[in-house]
Amino acid sequence: LLSYLHGFHAGNHADVFKHAVLGLVLESLLAKPKPLVYVESHAGAGRYDLGAEQALKTAEYRLGIARLWEQRDVFPELSAYLGAISSLNPSGGFSVYPGSPALAAHLLRAQDRLILMELHPTESQTLRRHLGGDPRIGIHRRDGLEGLTALLPPKPARGLVLIDPPYEQVSEYRRVAEALLAAHARWPTGVYALWFPRLGLQRDRSADLIGSIRRSVSDGLLCELRVRRQVDDFGMHGSGMLILNPPWRLEERLGDLLPRLADTLAIEETGRSVPSWTIERI
Ligand code: SAM
Repeated sequence: LLSYLHGFHAGNHADVFKHAVLGLVLESLLAKPKPLVYVESHAGAGRYDLGAEQALKTAEYRLGIARLWEQRDVFPELSAYLGAISSLNPSGGFSVYPGSPALAAHLLRAQDRLILMELHPTESQTLRRHLGGDPRIGIHRRDGLEGLTALLPPKPARGLVLIDPPYEQVSEYRRVAEALLAAHARWPTGVYALWFPRLGLQRDRSADLIGSIRRSVSDGLLCELRVRRQVDDFGMHGSGMLILNPPWRLEERLGDLLPRLADTLAIEETGRSVPSWTIERI
C-alpha cells in the first residue's frame, strides 16, 4: 500500500490545526530546561514546497495556511509555529511549509533529541535529505507503530510522541489505538498527541478510535476543529487531536485559540460559514 503522499495535503486545514496544537504542546514542554525527546511514528517528508506540482494540484493549502498567514498578526500565541515557517522562508511568505518534524526541529534545543519514523521509501529518503544532517535527529525507515513499542520509553524519559497516520485502511484505526495504548503502558508519563480525521458520515471512524482509547486511559484532552458541515461521503470536514498527559494550561490555551482558528479556517457554504470546535477532557 503506502499510496498516501502528504505533499498533496501539506498546509491544509488539518495540518494547520495539528501544527498549531503541536506548537503549543512543545512550547509548554520547553518551558523547563530538562532535555526532552520528540518521537514521531509517521514523520512524512519533513517539509514541503507549496509551489510544487503536488501541492498546486489540490491547492488545499489555500484554505489552510494561506488563510492563517493572512491573519497571523492576530494569533500571537502561535508564534512558535509561525516562527518555524518564517525561518524556512527568509524572503517572506510560507511556500516552504514545515511538516511536524521540521517544526519540532526548529523549536527543540541542543540538549533535546528527535526520533523520526517513516516507512515510505521515497518519503523517508526526502526526510533524510531535509533533516538527516542534524545531529539531534535519528531517522528510521520502519513501521512507526511497531517502532513505538521498540523504542519506548526513550532516554531521557521526558517528552512527546506524535502519531499522525494516513488512515488509508479501516483496519489502521484499530492498529493505531492498540499501538497508542501499548506505548502508553510502556511509558505512562510521556505526552502523546494522536491526530485523526473527521470524515463523511459513512466513513467516519473517530468515535470508535477515541472510544477504544478512553476506556483504558485517563488524563486526556480531546479537541476537534471542523471547517464545514459533516455530510454523507464527502471528504475530510475537520480533524481532531487527542492529547494524553496534556501539559498544564493546554486546555485553557486551546479554549482561547480554537474558536478564532475555526473562524479563520471555516469554509463558506452557500453564504453561511459553519466554524466548529470542541474541547473535552477524557
Ligand atoms: N506528520 C507529518 C506532518 O505533520 O508533517 C505528516 C505525516 S503523513 C499524514 C503520514 C505519513 O505516514 C506518510 O508520509 C506515510 O508515508 C507514512 N506512513 C504510512 N504508513 C506508515 C507506517 N506504517 N509507519 C510509518 N510511516 C507510515
